[in-house]
Amino acid sequence: MDLYEYQARNVFAAHGVPVLPGSVAATPEEARAAAEKIGGQVVVKAQVKTGGRGKAGGVKLADTPDEAREKAEAILGMDIKGHITRKVLVAQASDIAEEYYFSFLLDRANRSFLCIASAEGGVEIEQVAKEKPEAVAKIPIDPLSGVDLAKAREIAAAANYPEAIRDAAAEVIVKLWETFVAEDATLVEVNPMVRDPQDRIIALDGKVTLDDNAAFRQPGHAELVDVQAEDPLEAKAKAKGLNYVKLDGQVGIIGNGAGLVMSTLDVVAYAGEKHGGVKPANFLDIGGGASADVMAAGLEVILSDPDVKSVFVNVFGGITACDAVANGIVQAFKLLEERGETIDKPLVVRLDGNNADEGRRILDEAKLPGVQRVDTMDEAADKAAELANAGV
Ligand code: ADP
Ligand code: MG
Repeated sequence: MDLYEYQARNVFAAHGVPVLPGSVAATPEEARAAAEKIGGQVVVKAQVKTGGRGKAGGVKLADTPDEAREKAEAILGMDIKGHITRKVLVAQASDIAEEYYFSFLLDRANRSFLCIASAEGGVEIEQVAKEKPEAVAKIPIDPLSGVDLAKAREIAAAANYPEAIRDAAAEVIVKLWETFVAEDATLVEVNPMVRDPQDRIIALDGKVTLDDNAAFRQPGHAELVDVQAEDPLEAKAKAKGLNYVKLDGQVGIIGNGAGLVMSTLDVVAYAGEKHGGVKPANFLDIGGGASADVMAAGLEVILSDPDVKSVFVNVFGGITACDAVANGIVQAFKLLEERGETIDKPLVVRLDGNNADEGRRILDEAKLPGVQRVDTMDEAADKAAELANAGV
């Protein structure tokens, strides 16, 4: 889960990382009150989970509380790279002497942690890495020894932070590492990390990604979820315990096993090129033991997606054999009917693997409305794409 800047700021503050006074506001009036409380010049910043807000006009200075209200009015509702701004952070404006880049992240490729730091901050680090790769330091972090003051000084030197503030920066770096570890984060990024005219180091902008797999030991993280911004279909699937990701196509996908579902997405996208460019509408893995309940829950979520024009159920029978899955589909239809859900979209079902013949027989005999059986993955994907295109 990615945090909003204001949430990252609160997390930083809780771990002693220096941040500027500020508070979040959902209305222009709240923004005015926040600016009044802070006093002096403030910045009004769009709270959206994407970078480059400054360039997009989502970060504005205000000299008075009334001006903060005006700026908030202009920023609230703003569309920044497809993200609608619902809140602003009103923060004290800082005098900036220099802007640096700093981050800790999970380095999956090396199964370790990595620090990326540069004296060239404020701009996108990808840009710096492309134009001036020698200005970007990448320092591996040993997860067992972590980051103490000595390691932090080594990082500050490698990043080429100016001598005068290296010690101050090192202290902040240690606190950022403590934040990273204590919060089970996979990313803690500060861009810019600012040097003010008094040589103080401040985290001016923060991006924090929390590891959802650690949610069980981070009870406080639940309240950081932005229910309003969650995709309603993903929220519904989550509530049903399904492994579902909404995509932007028209062919609903259900499969058993993440690998099979991923290849199904590829095959459907490929088939779609011949059928009006239709694409997969979602990722949904119902897992190895596909019970009728799970199948019904999966179908219900997919059928309630207005973008879905056809559904492709792709099952490879393994430990749960095809006959059990076929019975699951038949019962899922009954369950949905009992709940008054209408199944008015065509379904293509491909069953293969363990007990495929029996599974296909069960499916044929059930004569489910709108269901077609196609026995190879490529042909089934083609059929599903064709039906989706006809329904668009
Ligand atoms: P983004 O990375 O989304 O563009 P930032 O928070 O990094 O948003 O803001 C962009 C720029 O705006 C910063 O690089 C900095 O120059 C300026 N800025 C941001 N917050 C403040 C602040 N509190 N005081 C002064 N300038 C700020
Ligand atoms: Mg930034």
